[in-house]
Amino acid sequence: MSTTSKRLDAGNRLRSADALAVIFGDQLIPPRDHPALRAIKKERDVVLMMEVDAEQQEGPSHKQRTALFLAAMRHYALDLIDLGYSVRYVRLDHPSNTQSFAGEVDRAVAALTPRRIAAMHPGDWRVFEEIQRWERSIVEVKEVVVIEDPYFFTTPDAFAAWAKGRKSLTMEYFYREQRRATGYLLDQNGDPLGGAWNHDKQNRLAFKDHPRPPGPPLFRIDCTTREVIDLVSERFTDAPGKLDASSFTWPVTTEQGEQVLDRFVEECLERFGPHEDAMWTEQPFLYHSMLSSSLNLHFLDPKRCCEKAIEAYERGRAPINSVEGFVRQILGWREYIRGVYWYEGAGYRDRNFLRSDGKLPGLYWDGQTDMRCLRECVSSVIDHAYAHHIPRLMVLANYAMIAGVSPRAIGDWFYGMFVDSVDWVTTPNTIGMGMHADGVRSADGSVESWPVVGTKPYAGGANYINKMSNYCAHCRYDHKSRRAETDLDRPPCPFNVFFWDFLIRHEDVFSKNHRMGMMMKNVAKMPSDERVAITVTAKSYREKFGVSNREDN
Ligand code: SF4
Repeated sequence: MSTTSKRLDAGNRLRSADALAVIFGDQLIPPRDHPALRAIKKERDVVLMMEVDAEQQEGPSHKQRTALFLAAMRHYALDLIDLGYSVRYVRLDHPSNTQSFAGEVDRAVAALTPRRIAAMHPGDWRVFEEIQRWERSIVEVKEVVVIEDPYFFTTPDAFAAWAKGRKSLTMEYFYREQRRATGYLLDQNGDPLGGAWNHDKQNRLAFKDHPRPPGPPLFRIDCTTREVIDLVSERFTDAPGKLDASSFTWPVTTEQGEQVLDRFVEECLERFGPHEDAMWTEQPFLYHSMLSSSLNLHFLDPKRCCEKAIEAYERGRAPINSVEGFVRQILGWREYIRGVYWYEGAGYRDRNFLRSDGKLPGLYWDGQTDMRCLRECVSSVIDHAYAHHIPRLMVLANYAMIAGVSPRAIGDWFYGMFVDSVDWVTTPNTIGMGMHADGVRSADGSVESWPVVGTKPYAGGANYINKMSNYCAHCRYDHKSRRAETDLDRPPCPFNVFFWDFLIRHEDVFSKNHRMGMMMKNVAKMPSDERVAITVTAKSYREKFGVSNREDN
C-alpha cells in the first residue's frame, strides 16, 4: 500500500467524535473558508470524506472526470490532515467501503457516535435527500446542520424570492441585479461601464488566423494523482474517455486552480471575449478559462475569479467586452442556472416538453461520424472531457434536440462526459437551455407551462456552425442545402434537414411562441413538396445516424 493510502486510511481507526463534518467531492472549499469545518472543533471532531461507486452508477462517467474528483478529494484530505484535522477518508478501493453515501455515513456514525453532523448545502437533489435522511433516520444523531454554500454569490432562497411572481425567469434581469448587488463593472452613478450591460455584439468573431492560444496548462503529476489515474484506469476499464498521466491537464488543488486563473487573465482574457463563441479544428480550448471544473469542485472562489478579471480591465490589460463576458458567465449564468435548479425541484431532470424519445446515437461515445462538426466536438470530449459552451450548445445539444433524442438520454451523457459536471449546473444547462425540455405539457399535449431557461429553443442549422468554425469547409455534407435531391455526391447537411424537420414536427407548439413568429411563418409558407422532402430525408437520416425515433415507425 502506498504512503498516500496509508495516510488516508489512518482516520478509519478513530473511535469517537462529538461532531462529524461531512465534505462531499464537489465541496472542496479551502479549509479556512469551509463552513462545515467552521462548525466543528478541530481537536475533538472528525471530518468524513467518501469515494463511492454509487456515483458511477448514476451513468457512465468519463475517466478524466472520475480521476479529477478523486485526485482533488485526496489532495484536500491530505491537506486537512497536515492542518491537524482528524479525517475519516473512505477510499474507493478500501475493502470495507459499502460504496454508497448512506452506507458510509451509517458506518461512520456507528464507529464515532457523533451527536451532531455538519454539512454544506450540497450540489444536487439526490445528496440533499440523503442529508434529510440523516436527520430522520439516524437516531444517535441529535442535530444535523446544513450550512449555506459561501462560494456562490446568491442562495437558492434569494433566487426563489427573485423568481416568485415573475412571468418568466430572464437571465439578463437576474444578472443586472447581481451586478448592482456586487457593484461589479459599474460607474459612480451605478450605470454599467462601457455603456451597456452586455457586450455580446463585439463577441462574435470566428477564430481564423488569430494568435495561437496558449493551450491547456500542464501540471506535474504527483504520486497522489498518479495513483488515482492508475486506480480509475484499472477499475473503470469500460468507462468512456481517454485518461493517461501525460495528458491529464486539470488542476486538482486550489494552488493549481489559482495558477490557471492567473494564466487565463494574463494570456487569454484579452482575446477571450471576441472569440468566445468561435470553434476551430484541433483547438478545443481557444482562449477559454478552463476554470469551470475548479469552480464547480469549489476549490476556486468565484468572487476571486471575477475580481481578478475586473482588476485586469482596470489595469488596461483586457477590454470591457472580454471582462464583462467572463463576469457574466460566473456572476450571471452560473448563479442563474443554480437558482433554476433548486427552484424547479427534483423532477426537473425528467422533463420532456417536446416529447422526444429518440436514442442517443453511438457517435456521442466514439466520435465516429462523417459530420465534421460532431466528430471534432465529440473527439474533444473523449480526449479532454471538455468542450466550451458553444460546441456544447450549438453542436452537441442542438443536434440531439433537432434530431429528436430523448432529453434524459443526452442529459445523462452531458452529466457523465464533462470534467466540470455537477447536477445543479449540467441538468438546467442541458434539459433547459440545450434541449428546451423544461416546460410541462398535459396529457392532451396542451402547454401547462412554457420552458423556463429559454424563451425559444437554441436550435440552428449549418449557417451558424459555418460562420463560427472551419468545420463545414472540410465536411462531406453541403452546409447550404436542406434538400436530399440537390446533390447526391454532397448530401444536404443533417443539421439543416433536422432543423427544418424539427420546426415542422413541433409546428403546433412553436407557432404559439411569439419569439418564433418569423421562423414559423416560413414553415407555414413552405411548399408541400418541400415539407415532404425534408420529412422523408430527416427520417432516413434518423435511421442512418442511429436516432431511430419511434415517430418514424
Ligand atoms: Fe456539421 Fe453540417 Fe457543417 Fe458538416 S456541413 S460540419 S454536418 S454543420
